[in-house]
Amino acid sequence: VLAEHWEECDIDLGPEQVLTRVIKEGRRLISEIGRRPDELAGVGVGLPGPVEQATGRPISPPIMPGWDGFDVPGFLDAEFGRVAIVDNDVNIMALGEHFSVYPGVQNLVFVKVATGIGSGIIIDGELRRGSQGAAGDLGHLNVPHDEQVVCRCGNVGCLEAVASGAAVAAKLRAVGIEAHTSADVVRLVKAGSVEAVPLVRQVGRTIGEVLASVVSMLNPSVIVVGGPLAEAGEGLLAGVREVVYRRSLPLATQHLRIVQAQVGYQAGVIGASVEVIDHALAADQLHTLLASA
Ligand SMILES: [Zn+2]
Repeated sequence: VLAEHWEECDIDLGPEQVLTRVIKEGRRLISEIGRRPDELAGVGVGLPGPVEQATGRPISPPIMPGWDGFDVPGFLDAEFGRVAIVDNDVNIMALGEHFSVYPGVQNLVFVKVATGIGSGIIIDGELRRGSQGAAGDLGHLNVPHDEQVVCRCGNVGCLEAVASGAAVAAKLRAVGIEAHTSADVVRLVKAGSVEAVPLVRQVGRTIGEVLASVVSMLNPSVIVVGGPLAEAGEGLLAGVREVVYRRSLPLATQHLRIVQAQVGYQAGVIGASVEVIDHALAADQLHTLLASA
């Protein structure tokens, strides 16, 4: 990473405003390191919602009003004159963690536990997105034995509705403890809160119930748990491990590691770069690269 900038962003402002801000900061970073936009191989972007792989457009993203069907790659291409690769944020985090920490691992599932819950699936060393790009939407799998809370997707009993950072914060508020975000929950756990610690472990078990099915279906050798709520550390992981190892077949868990993410907030940046580099070095793109050299 040559230069970086971090800021909170209100995705509700809609695509034009948010992307105009992103473009402005992108241009500033390029000039900060004394380079030119025409030296870019491409632009990589992660969005917190489902992205149609063929077009790079977000499709009915639940928390992104105004973004449905918006041509994000077209907007960025027009500005930079370089191909823009747009993907779901959890997919690029999975790629970043895989590239940085587990390059030799063939089968890995990355789980992001934040305001929502999602996963990125790497099989045979490649990110798998499914037919349209919707694979890995772990947050909307049903948790069979949990309370049937209504989810923001409209269904009831989704994992995200009972085990996300937002859900844990809501449960803490219900017992009179001030908490609104994943970061609030993590702070309480680190301070040894007698309400938050067992709750987070229980949430780990709930996530483990759904992940046990994932383990049976995909037989990964590593499950990486990342996102802000993963900062709660061993309590969350212990809950996940407890249920996954109990409910999965011995052959599937013989060499399975369930670990906390290591790369942190840079995972998305690194993963987006990996996607752009893979695209630029693909056989059918090499002529463009050579022509511009
Ligand atoms: Zn749902």
